[in-house]
Amino acid sequence: MITKIIREEEIQKAKKYVEKGESFVIVTHVSPDGDALGSALGLYHFLTTYGKDNVSVVVPNAFPRFYRWMPGSKEIIIHEKYPDFAEQLLREADVIFCLDFNEPKRVDKLAPALMAAEGRRVLIDHHLNPADFCRVTMSYPQMSSTSEMIFRFICRMGMFDLMNKACATCIYTGMMTDTGSFTYNSNKPEIYTIISELIKKGIDKDQIYRNVNQVYSEDRLRMMGYVLYEKMKIYPEQQTALITLSLDELNHFHYVTGDTEGFVNLPLSIEGVTFSAFIREDTDYVKVSLRSVGEFPCNRFANRYFNGGGHKNASGGEFYGPLADAVAVFEQGLTEFNPNKIEDLNKEA
Ligand code: 5GP
Ligand code: MN
Repeated sequence: MITKIIREEEIQKAKKYVEKGESFVIVTHVSPDGDALGSALGLYHFLTTYGKDNVSVVVPNAFPRFYRWMPGSKEIIIHEKYPDFAEQLLREADVIFCLDFNEPKRVDKLAPALMAAEGRRVLIDHHLNPADFCRVTMSYPQMSSTSEMIFRFICRMGMFDLMNKACATCIYTGMMTDTGSFTYNSNKPEIYTIISELIKKGIDKDQIYRNVNQVYSEDRLRMMGYVLYEKMKIYPEQQTALITLSLDELNHFHYVTGDTEGFVNLPLSIEGVTFSAFIREDTDYVKVSLRSVGEFPCNRFANRYFNGGGHKNASGGEFYGPLADAVAVFEQGLTEFNPNKIEDLNKEA
């Protein structure tokens, strides 16, 4: 048995929208990751199996090539490529599911169209502090992933039988990628009960792992070697590591979206490193990714210095200015917000 975590009232309201709605749009955050895509496509397969023939998944921008194998991924509409079509779908939708993000700005340039849409919005998410922009807000930060919430949502509507193999495959992918293949944020026993049910639906979990993790290009692996040998800086006093990559360096390795995925986690395998940052120059901004192990709240760091947020152990933000200035802000942050002195932080909280 799986515990009823999502409040009944939220389930019933959303269920009514599912039953009565004719046109559905599923939206997820900018730079969609495995959980964003897994939850969106999982829900997409469920709704189509349920008999809805007007269901679209809309994402703000491109997603990594190692998710292109996911069932349904070819149907995804990328707003950056087809803005008019994506915005028309939003305008015409009866119901809009907002998955794996907690505030409109996380869908970037799609936000105005999302907020102007008249359809009923339903949020399903596991990030802290959800903004109040949906009719139904299912926000459960204790969940491993939004994909796990989609599983629970379908079950609680009494429609587990409508979960097919494609749906289960997408849900599993999101749960796997948001927990580092079940190496963090994955101690709750029910996660494994859910996986067991997904396997009964026919998923091949070993193949899913290989699809996501073993399809990198030679360039990406060489860039990883470069980053570890030449670019990783350790701050022993702060138990911290930093990796930076400039646009020139990325171009040298023919960077495509997704190539630097996971780089931020690499330094955490060093004994004594509890906080890791990856700062990447992009064309019009600088992207900051942060990870921690244990109690250091990297979302507070992201929020204070990079106008971002996320989870305690995985967060990110953005910086507008030169890469060197972003590094300076980061280093200043380390002096005030030292992972080696968590007691001070907790006093301040
Ligand atoms: P990543 O480092 O993989 O891009 O992001 C890790 C997590 O940090 C995401 O799942 C998301 O919760 C959060 N995050 C990343 N970038 C941002 C950002 O710019 N703003 C906010 N609020 N959260 C972010
Ligand atoms: Mn997620």
